[in-house]
Amino acid sequence: MYFNSKLPNDGTTIFTVMSNMAKEFGAVNLSQGFPDFEPDPYLLELATQYFYQGKNQYAQMTGVPLLRERLSEKFNGLYGIHLHEEDEITITAGGTQGIFTAISTLIRPGEEVIYFEPAYDSYRPAIELCGGIAKPIILEGPDYTIDWSLVRKMFSAQTKLIIINTPNNPTGRIWSANDMLNLQQVLSNTEVYLLSDEVYEHLIFDGKKHESILNYPELRARGFAVFSFGKTYHVTGWKIGYVVAPPLLTKEFRKVHQFNVFSVNTPLQYALADYMEDPGQYMKLNHFYEEKRDYFLALLSGTGLKPLSCEGTYFQCCDYSELSSENDIEFTKWLVKEVGIAAIPLSSFYHNPPNARIIRFCFAKKEETLALAGERLKRLRKLTQ
Ligand code: GLN
Repeated sequence: MYFNSKLPNDGTTIFTVMSNMAKEFGAVNLSQGFPDFEPDPYLLELATQYFYQGKNQYAQMTGVPLLRERLSEKFNGLYGIHLHEEDEITITAGGTQGIFTAISTLIRPGEEVIYFEPAYDSYRPAIELCGGIAKPIILEGPDYTIDWSLVRKMFSAQTKLIIINTPNNPTGRIWSANDMLNLQQVLSNTEVYLLSDEVYEHLIFDGKKHESILNYPELRARGFAVFSFGKTYHVTGWKIGYVVAPPLLTKEFRKVHQFNVFSVNTPLQYALADYMEDPGQYMKLNHFYEEKRDYFLALLSGTGLKPLSCEGTYFQCCDYSELSSENDIEFTKWLVKEVGIAAIPLSSFYHNPPNARIIRFCFAKKEETLALAGERLKRLRKLTQ
């Protein structure tokens, strides 16, 4: 029987493809973004405790109240704002579900969504499944700075939503306060909503500061902000995140959420709520990952891979044009098979990829994993001669 696919041009996501290839070829997996080390044993203890304390049935549709309270305290501490956990915070089954649900809440067929490429690969399919029209703005490497006059030109009468992502996956670049003010100005006097993917909020380096839409009242008033426990507490497999939005938007978001996942893993929400009592856990994440970034950068030196600036996230992009003129998909395949390192080709983050020679590595790995990768990368020059 012929199947008329709703996503005819999408295959399996590159993250799954590359992780599978890493296994197949025994490569060091620096492709899909996840830590290869364990979370804090105390967090695991809390989780186990709640399995045995009868917290094994459905949680509230909106999320465990204590966890939402803790999140409200967190943002009060970070930005001095007062979020009402009752009608402004919803716990989701990970950041990607939060993004998908926010897009489904807003987008009707024919409506346009502006976002910046390179972009996380879930945005466009989510828009298209709702019948929306994806309007990517291509940012040029190696700096990926935003040309605000171009952004203004992308707006039309059909524009319903703009998606932003800082710190950015895959580029590792962050938005400045000036970018936020420009965004605020572009959006003022429009009916356009905002979706802000802030899952890497705590992974930000060199003393720089994360710009959250929650810290800009005019942006916050029209926005869904998406966050992730997986990135913050090294538990990507728990698939728990949350979405912050004003009451009216949250109400509509929850209408969709309840028919999609209904509610999220109960015992783990209780564990996270207890664990969040200590804000020190997320406040020290920047140093933790900054060290890993610097360690990885040192390993890259002399390999022929030219690192781009990484201000945040756990991703390091590298230009490999000194080593090869092959396209990034071919180069990545060669790298996994012949060198034993799995990476992600940057073209996977574009609808119409430019001709850049750039790949992304994830450095959320144990020192020994990075060291092994470093050993293998030393052979790169010889192998490409
Ligand atoms: N966000 C992660 C990355 O960019 C992967 C998430 C996924 O595998 N879907 O690597």
